[in-house]
Amino acid sequence: MTAGQYFRDIFDTVQSVFIGMKITVRYIFMKPVTVNYPEQHLTFAPRYRGIHEFELNKCIACDLCAKACPVDCIYIEKTGPRRIDKVTGLVEESDPKNGQLTRFAIDYSKCLFCALCTEPCPTDCIHMGKLHDLSGYSRGEAVVEFSELDKKGQRTPLPLWIERNRATIPWVQDEFDRVRAGKLADNGGDIPKI
Ligand code: SF4
Ligand code: SF4
Repeated sequence: MTAGQYFRDIFDTVQSVFIGMKITVRYIFMKPVTVNYPEQHLTFAPRYRGIHEFELNKCIACDLCAKACPVDCIYIEKTGPRRIDKVTGLVEESDPKNGQLTRFAIDYSKCLFCALCTEPCPTDCIHMGKLHDLSGYSRGEAVVEFSELDKKGQRTPLPLWIERNRATIPWVQDEFDRVRAGKLADNGGDIPKI
């Protein structure tokens, strides 16, 4: 190596450090684009597609959602056909002519959140929700049994972090109360019916 090459290498190194530090210093004074989640509430787009919300008392078990699903991750088990009562707009479980929906489950290890299942539903009882976290300790926990949740009055599962942080973060407590009360999210990401 020549002396000229030696000093050029030193110059290049110092110059590249200077350029890198210039960018770093510029970013120090810029407004952060990240949010301190979950302490700060993220605002989702109106068409955001989160974990489904399911109204079992409107489901006629027609299987159209399961047939529309491109990855076959909706599991439906029933004892017979179900029909909507014209007066109440709901499936009357006590009516002996109605079958029972013994299982309605979605496997979120396969779900694409494409919303294609919401489009063909004739009773508009399956929706894309607003919650997005489904962390768990086993792969089996990715399968959400909506028919079991309905027994607790819930339309959608409650993520673990909501259960754990609700006492300290007001908006998390609001979401907890909403889900426990069986209320749907304000605006979901369903595919609009034409
Ligand atoms: S969102 Fe898409 S992938 Fe998920 S259950 Fe519905 S149709 Fe299937
Ligand atoms: S399409 Fe709607 S009514 Fe039919 S099985 Fe699916 S959720 Fe139930």
